[in-house]
Amino acid sequence: MELHRKKKQKRPPKKKAGPTKRFVYKVHGSLAHGFLLEGAEEFENQVACQLELQNAVGNNERHRRSLCMEVLRERYPNLAHLECEKDRLDAEVDALRDAAKARNAQARRKRATPEESAAIRAKAAEAKAAREAFQAAKEAAYADPAVKDDLKAVNEHADWLDFRKYNHLKRTRNMSAHSRAIVMADTRGRRAGRPPKPKTEEVECRVGLQIKRARLAPLLTPEVFLAGGARDCQVTVLSENTVGGSNGGVTYTKRFCEIRFPLTSRNRGYPIVYCKVRVHIHRLPPRGSAIKQLHLHRAKRGPSVRYELHLSVEKKDGFAKPDVPDTGVVAINLGWRQTEDGIRVATWHAKGASTAEVAGPAYYPLQQVETDSGSLVLPQAEVDRRWRYVEEIQSRRDNLFNEARARLAEWLGANASIVPAWLAERTRYMAQWKASRNMEELVVVWGVRRFAGDESMYRYLHGYEVQRGVRPDGRPRMLFEGWMLQDRHLALQMEGQRQRANRWRDYVYRRFAIALRRRYRKVILANTNWARLARNEEKDKPEDNKSANETSRWNRRVAAPGRFSKILGEMFGEAEKVEGKNITQTCSECLHRDAFDAKAEVVRTCHRCEAVADQDARAARNLLAKEGTGTLLGVEPAPAPEPEEEEAV
Ligand SMILES: [Zn+2]
Repeated sequence: MELHRKKKQKRPPKKKAGPTKRFVYKVHGSLAHGFLLEGAEEFENQVACQLELQNAVGNNERHRRSLCMEVLRERYPNLAHLECEKDRLDAEVDALRDAAKARNAQARRKRATPEESAAIRAKAAEAKAAREAFQAAKEAAYADPAVKDDLKAVNEHADWLDFRKYNHLKRTRNMSAHSRAIVMADTRGRRAGRPPKPKTEEVECRVGLQIKRARLAPLLTPEVFLAGGARDCQVTVLSENTVGGSNGGVTYTKRFCEIRFPLTSRNRGYPIVYCKVRVHIHRLPPRGSAIKQLHLHRAKRGPSVRYELHLSVEKKDGFAKPDVPDTGVVAINLGWRQTEDGIRVATWHAKGASTAEVAGPAYYPLQQVETDSGSLVLPQAEVDRRWRYVEEIQSRRDNLFNEARARLAEWLGANASIVPAWLAERTRYMAQWKASRNMEELVVVWGVRRFAGDESMYRYLHGYEVQRGVRPDGRPRMLFEGWMLQDRHLALQMEGQRQRANRWRDYVYRRFAIALRRRYRKVILANTNWARLARNEEKDKPEDNKSANETSRWNRRVAAPGRFSKILGEMFGEAEKVEGKNITQTCSECLHRDAFDAKAEVVRTCHRCEAVADQDARAARNLLAKEGTGTLLGVEPAPAPEPEEEEAV
């Protein structure tokens, strides 16, 4: 009986969540007129709180580590000695660097001389060896069971803000303290590694809420949402119009909406603060899906700011499109290889193509796929036209910057008697400034610390508007002169152009994915960590071949394989990620693996079986052979939804 009662009291198991997907809508607005019609202050407030909390966790972790180190130092005097040695060498490297920098600043050189570089390099190698010795000794000390108890006491001290729970914190940053504590007790997805440095500003931030359906609606479908079925969220459709239909495509309704939702919880004794934004709902989440969460997202890119409304949508039977066949597997190898025609971004190899005619709307004019292998190349002309323009603007900015720097240096020399100490100090290493950011900071500081006699120079550095001709409608055509305003204007233009180019690339990638998806049900991708790969490549690049490095980096940025991988993973009926190590090095015929310079030999003859194959085609074949050995995407349960505020408190 007792047992029976206990069993009854158990909470029902959590319902398994279906796959979720995020739908992104751009918030209408501008830098000049603002993006939030209501609640801007509260948004800023919450963003600042999130940042403060994140920094607190980082600082707490740094403190915990320093306490641990103190314990270790006491127990192992040798460790303390190694640490001293490491710090001494690091300081010496810094001293050498600073001395070289000061000498070169005087000589107005940007780079260190070869002798200086060689001396710095030798010292840095010494420092690295000392660092590694210290690291090894530290790891050995941590592994010693005798110190465990001592460290335990230290660790308990720092429990609530455990750094390993940093990931949770990111997920929970807009919750009440109580709800946060519940989620923080969860131990999945802990973060390892060094704590991040305290930030003064978050480039990407978001504030959101769990939205609740109205009492009568069983599911908060997109249609119910638009009709105002969400309990906390008011949706007003301001206008709608039908677009599309060209080139045999489908027509769809584009809505311009005003959405008002609470930024604060209703149960803290304070009035609710609402946020109101205007968005273009250009495509609704699919029928039968349920809207779970809503986030207001802000991203800063240089001088431009973008606000987006994100709807997290769940669909029990997945987001597979109607034009997905039942059979066929395609393996796609991604990359950024320069070829004669352009940048080769994907090579694919497939089996078991479906011959059935698939029904589905014609989203875009598609290229026809008829063979079981091939590649996707971004045409050189398009790449040049779209991305080189970005470079052109950058070079104009560089020229303006160099001119401004030269003029300022000349002015400082000629007006040494009136230049205040802070300005002289700030411009000491000006010859080495590479980014316009330093100059911009200087102008901002100068703006609040004006001094007698600085008018002409400050005006030039800050920039001003002048009339240059007349527009066709009779209004004056105003343009910027001077440095900062012109530079900001160009920076905005550059960012806009870059975003346009990226949108075009995504369009090409989606079209490619749809064309393949109509013949093959499943896609196989490598589990490469593209971000880490890029970081490592930046680190290991050989110094001698600068232009080749530049081209490779440039192509990688244009190709954006990480983005491509994400698009492909989302668009097929099924997706699997398999181990991507050594897939270009292994012969797809006899599985013989030999190391060779991947950049020099694109087409490779196998040493053992003499099969001749293009590296990328080989990689695609190898990926296909690995089908069934990796992890399936989109079938793992989605992360548990955030607890509802009302229930938690
Ligand atoms: Zn072989």
